[in-house]
Amino acid sequence: NEYVDISGISFINIEKTQFLNSILIPRIKNDEKTFIVTANPEIVNRTTYDDAYKEAVISSDYTIADGVGILIAAKMNKKLIKERIAGYDLLVDLLNVGNKDGLKVYLLGAEESVNKKASEHIIVNFPNVEIVGRHHGYFDMNDDRIAKEIRELEPDLVFVALGVPRQETWIHQNLDQFEKGLFMGVGGSFDVLAG
Ligand code: UDP
Repeated sequence: NEYVDISGISFINIEKTQFLNSILIPRIKNDEKTFIVTANPEIVNRTTYDDAYKEAVISSDYTIADGVGILIAAKMNKKLIKERIAGYDLLVDLLNVGNKDGLKVYLLGAEESVNKKASEHIIVNFPNVEIVGRHHGYFDMNDDRIAKEIRELEPDLVFVALGVPRQETWIHQNLDQFEKGLFMGVGGSFDVLAG
């Protein structure tokens, strides 16, 4: 794979379709654990002053360019990033993969009512997706009950909507405990799904 460095963050330079078909879908099929950061300028900026957060971002398997701001920053370094991959679009594409293959999904984050509505939206629109569990995003970061539940449920896809920096921090802190699963911070996406 080809990578582009922006402020010490290594972005994978790949089109969304290829990222899905040649990297993510095979990893899901092989039960390979994957941590994706969909990095927008807010995320990159935070890594410049928040070392713990930078460590979390750098620990990911793939950081993708979410936002034209990243493409512009790359251009200023005379690097061309092929495509912006919006986190929300990747989430929807992964739900389509989940619908095709009957994947197990866990929804972590947002307010309880939003989380519930997002899960109902998925049940209606992606009927073959199996929502194995869900939890709202207002819990103590030191409470390990949610991670324990996810470990036991073994979902294929875990979408974490805790906002920046909590979502990447939570994934980084807990990833070691999981045997499998694709983990991705999705920001305000549950609010969008909930409509
Ligand atoms: N959120 C959460 N727990 C928190 C903080 C935020 O579950 O402690 C949720 C919030 O309800 C929203 C999502 O995280 O659904 C994204 O929040 P925000 O829009 O602030 O983040 P951004 O999309 O800008 O990263």
